[in-house]
Amino acid sequence: MGDERPSYRYCPYCRTELSDRLVFGRTRRVCPSCGFVHFVDPKVGVAVLVEHAGKVLLVRRAVAPSQGAWCLPSGFVESDEDPAEAAARECLEETGLHVRITDLLHVGSYRNDPRGAGIIIFYQAQVVGGWLTPGDDADEARFFASHELPTEIAFRSNREILSRWQRGQLVPCPVIRPQ
Ligand SMILES: [Zn+2]
Repeated sequence: MGDERPSYRYCPYCRTELSDRLVFGRTRRVCPSCGFVHFVDPKVGVAVLVEHAGKVLLVRRAVAPSQGAWCLPSGFVESDEDPAEAAARECLEETGLHVRITDLLHVGSYRNDPRGAGIIIFYQAQVVGGWLTPGDDADEARFFASHELPTEIAFRSNREILSRWQRGQLVPCPVIRPQ
């Protein structure tokens, strides 16, 4: 429901063909041999709003989806990462800037991404070093003033966050950073 990713056909552990069974309130792909249940979990993404001299840092997407559109530096959390660390890592990879995550801004969700449904955590951060250089999934990175934001912004949640930023309506919540 709401997630269009194709299901597994075979058990990733024992390679038995999976079958549909009603477990934990939904029909799920289950291994009749070893009991593996394929839970279609949301991916966890992070995005970071970096403001400097009244301008906001955006990157231009070099890859699908929304290739060529601008968005906040963002990416997926690895299973061994704190999400705030992941946000700082993604920012460094895409913009060359080292940032310090300061605040939590918003937690959103989406169901319309070809890579699967997800939860996205928005942070605010401050630049602490580095040189502005696009990299990884971004082919351009630059700061924009509130009145000069590019018209093509990728992802509904990014548009919402940037709109709130323009109106001065973001409500930052301090984060406890990982030790
Ligand atoms: Zn199995």
